[in-house]
Amino acid sequence: MVARRTVIKTGASAILAWLAKPLDGWALEPKVPAVPKPIILSTWKFGLQANEEAWKVIEKNGNSLDAVEQGVMLVEADPNERSVGYGGRPDRDGNVTLDACIMDHNANIGSVACLQHIVHPISVARAIMEKSPHVMLVGDGALKFALENGFKKENLLTEASEKEWREWLKTSEYKPIVNIENHDTIGMIALDTKGNLAGACTTSGMAFKLAGRVGDSPIIGAGLYVDGEVGAVTATGHGEEVIRVVGAHLVIEMMRQGKTPKKACKAAVELIKRKFDLRQKQTKDTQIGFIAINNLGEYGAFALRKGFYYAVKDATGNKLYKADYLVK
Ligand code: ASP
Repeated sequence: MVARRTVIKTGASAILAWLAKPLDGWALEPKVPAVPKPIILSTWKFGLQANEEAWKVIEKNGNSLDAVEQGVMLVEADPNERSVGYGGRPDRDGNVTLDACIMDHNANIGSVACLQHIVHPISVARAIMEKSPHVMLVGDGALKFALENGFKKENLLTEASEKEWREWLKTSEYKPIVNIENHDTIGMIALDTKGNLAGACTTSGMAFKLAGRVGDSPIIGAGLYVDGEVGAVTATGHGEEVIRVVGAHLVIEMMRQGKTPKKACKAAVELIKRKFDLRQKQTKDTQIGFIAINNLGEYGAFALRKGFYYAVKDATGNKLYKADYLVK
């Protein structure tokens, strides 16, 4: 006769064994590199300078979260970069409104959308992550939080951007232009010497957008996603299209299932194209670019159209690459 205690024990171990069994297609095998190979990737040409700034943190064995914040801050503060931070092009009412988010390998997140008057929205996003009980603040509430946390109120509309906006008002035609370097987001992802990943994404969004418009950049999962067991991904380009497929998270999940960073980025771009086709819309005025690294430090990128560049920094150098693309 089998003792009652033995039956209970056998039942419990069967449940534990069942719980430990991976779900189909979701077998999680954390790939932890023996020696992490630090690397930084960022979008567009301005990524080159931003990478150098971020590398100053990485080379001192600093953490990837500090690195990505420091890196993108350089571009946020540059008045000549007209698509990010100070000097960014305004919305159609003449207000510069900023979107940004930051994320680490343990799913700590902070995000800010439609923020005015603050030069470093990425640092406000980080403060939301570290000092508030929330993950996202928008508009006036975000500004109030920033001011209460020591950020300074400033005018972000430079003479050059105001001039361009006044010129635009003459026709008031909203035509997002693809592949203009000055029209894009800085997204940065990094792996540090301890093997920890982080990402940051910051932008003034589409020039002459409707007041209150929020793009993909501050939306965790769309413009940026980091998973310490898989990799880090960020996006640039037409935010509405990235949000439609929750782009960055999609790329992460493709990598989790075994795709290389480049193939995962390509699969997300293909899905975006398919959504255009299903809606019988043309992709000709649109650009989307993804960049990704996995936790082994392997990287890749892919774009919808020709003309997307990304910068890669590691111990061997800092280079600008042309991304492969789907349609001519
Ligand atoms: N993704 C950004 C947005 O839609 C803009 C860009 O990257 O060009 O706001």
